[in-house]
Amino acid sequence: MLHIGCHLSSSKGFLAMGKTALSIGADTFQFFTRNPRGGKAKAVKPEDAAALNALMQEHNFAPILAHAPYTMNPCAADEKLLEFAQMVMEGDLAMLEYVPGNMYNFHPGSHVKQGVEAGVEQISRALRAALEPGYPVQVCLETMAGKGTEVGGNFREIRMILDAVGSREVGVCLDTCHVYDGGYDLVRNLDGVLETFDREIGLDRLWALHLNDSKNPFGSHKDRHEKIGQGSLGVEAFRAIVNHPVLHGLPMILETPNDLPGYAREIALLRGMEKQI
Ligand code: FE
Ligand code: FE
Ligand code: ZN
Repeated sequence: MLHIGCHLSSSKGFLAMGKTALSIGADTFQFFTRNPRGGKAKAVKPEDAAALNALMQEHNFAPILAHAPYTMNPCAADEKLLEFAQMVMEGDLAMLEYVPGNMYNFHPGSHVKQGVEAGVEQISRALRAALEPGYPVQVCLETMAGKGTEVGGNFREIRMILDAVGSREVGVCLDTCHVYDGGYDLVRNLDGVLETFDREIGLDRLWALHLNDSKNPFGSHKDRHEKIGQGSLGVEAFRAIVNHPVLHGLPMILETPNDLPGYAREIALLRGMEKQI
């Protein structure tokens, strides 16, 4: 069973997102925990969260992803930015107690010339502190395209963070646009990329996928998402991904440049490509 959905606006609350997901053929979705460029978290209405939990259960949803804002940089050099990152991470995880059993996804951040090792150290310290209370949430590090001083642009750096955190509660969300831009050839060698992932991180840590085509060529380190089938990955790459036994059952989230009808079409396209055995 393919579990697929897309990024949705959280402006109308939890239940509204669940209903929107159903209306476009999705059985999972992703939302920003707060304004993507930062800012305050919205107050959660417990009855709204409870209504989503019930709806997800009734319709056999896969776990949903709460995405941290892009401005959260847990390996910033600036003290104020670090404090902000810690506050956001802890606040978001606490908020997710209202929707237990789901995932929190974030970009490892940019080390801003402090070096990868220092970045990894800072990220793991922030995560360890944030996980301390023990929330019912799986935390995912997102694989990045390796733009600028981004940490997590290759599997080795993700592994370094996981090792430094030392917790089984942290896994990985693989973004297809990011890893293709980052130099992992999902198009010509999906099996090889997954073998490399297994060797360097471990497939038991692969918990979710972001499905995005890329506006840029292989290895460009750019990170510009394109609609499914209209970029450099192409539609056949996604046919292979939705049918790959290793990826079977993982929540797959579209972050393509689309409105809702566009997302509905992409979900139908990908569901249509899933081979019925
Ligand atoms: Fe992301
Ligand atoms: Fe992504
Ligand atoms: Zn991206």
